[in-house]
Amino acid sequence: MSKKLFIKTYGCQMNVYDSARMADVLAPLGYVPAATAEGADMVILNTCHIREKAAEKVYSELGRLRAFQAEKSASGGRMVVAVAGCVAQAEGAEIMRRAPNVDIVFGPQTYHRLPEMVARAARAAGQHGRGIVDTDFPVEAKFDFLPEQSISQSAGAYLTVQEGCDKFCSFCVVPYTRGAEFSRPVADIVAEARRLIANGALEITLLGQNVNAYHGVDAAGNSSSLGALIGTLAELPGLARIRYTTSHPLEMDDALIAAHRDVPALMPFLHLPVQSGSDRILAAMNRRHTADHYRRLVERLRTARPDLALSSDFIVGYPGETEADFEATLGLVRTVGFAQAYSFKFSPRPGTPAAAIAIDDGVPDAIKAERLAELQALLAEQQHAFNRGFAGRVVEVLLDRQGRHNGQLAGRSPQMQAVHVAAPDTCFGQIVPVRIEQAHPLSLSGCLDQHVEHAA
Ligand code: SAM
Ligand code: SF4
Repeated sequence: MSKKLFIKTYGCQMNVYDSARMADVLAPLGYVPAATAEGADMVILNTCHIREKAAEKVYSELGRLRAFQAEKSASGGRMVVAVAGCVAQAEGAEIMRRAPNVDIVFGPQTYHRLPEMVARAARAAGQHGRGIVDTDFPVEAKFDFLPEQSISQSAGAYLTVQEGCDKFCSFCVVPYTRGAEFSRPVADIVAEARRLIANGALEITLLGQNVNAYHGVDAAGNSSSLGALIGTLAELPGLARIRYTTSHPLEMDDALIAAHRDVPALMPFLHLPVQSGSDRILAAMNRRHTADHYRRLVERLRTARPDLALSSDFIVGYPGETEADFEATLGLVRTVGFAQAYSFKFSPRPGTPAAAIAIDDGVPDAIKAERLAELQALLAEQQHAFNRGFAGRVVEVLLDRQGRHNGQLAGRSPQMQAVHVAAPDTCFGQIVPVRIEQAHPLSLSGCLDQHVEHAA
């Protein structure tokens, strides 16, 4: 008999990918995805530790699940509750202590062991101290133990090629929760890409916490760069678009920059976090590059691919950030010009070096809020201006979701803008030419262009 599995995913695309793989691992045990926690036989909260109060949000969600667990027991069943992801990795057994209704806690590197954990949880049901915690960084490679990815019929697919991070930026928990850098072998990635394409994927986004540090082994036993991997994937028949995220400026090597020039399937969009425009703050953050290094890199990328759209991440109010440091960030934004960006107030993550400095040298929250508002206003202006440049143009859009209104589909332009299109359902999952009629602050809208040959 099938059992209902509900997975709630927080945070980044890597977590979205991991959640799908957890479902794959549990499928042979009879678990089928459910749309809600109510009545489920197993609930997994796949958590993210990047944002402030992430752990608190997980505890309140666990509190809400208690009512569903009680209902399930009253009807003679049992709801197994598991906490996964980076909060699980960071908090470990503490989760069981604070939320005794949790049966399993496991980190991002151990979900291939889920069937064993579920079996142990079933045996331990009702016993005191029944909880199972597996937050190892195991010697065996998780990917060698995962079943083949079950394929959702999605035209836009994700594929994890690299995990973990050795950079240790002073504000970031990722090296502690995701562990050391690991790259999957080229052959495994190509095999997974072929399966995705066979099931309708036209676009594949290569994922990694530090994706451009990719150095997986190729067929000849040599280490392959991300640029070389992209070149290999671009040869696969049927794959129209390739993207990758998230990159570190220090890892943008010549091969990757050349791929932006030479591989048409590599989309003209790059998320390249810079965090700050102040060299002093960049050094304090342990980013190991200067603002000028970033500017020069962008110039090289734009020479390689003139229509490249850039996105970034920024942190304001890093401990010790002065008005002059913040001005340097605004200056960098003005000179580089971004098509979109994410910006955050610095928040101390327990266990990171920056959290210790923040105690004495923290920027007051009111100042952080002011700076964030100013930066976001500038970034929003740039994004709107970038979008306005597309009015009247025809762009290729991969329609992979329903639009806001009836009769509308939505998708992404090559430059990653959200585009809403009046289009019949038959266009779903296809790349279609769209004439842009309106440019909005965060998106574009338009109609199918009849005069341009279908380029999908
Ligand atoms: N690996 C990427 C990189 O090299 O920047 C991004 C990792 S992180 C998942 C995504 C973003 O969250 C970071 O780029 C940073 O801007 C933000 N972030 C991470 N830790 C933060 C903290 N302690 N406070 C505020 N923002 C943070
Ligand atoms: Fe975190 Fe990215 Fe720095 Fe790694 S490179 S420590 S993931 S911000």
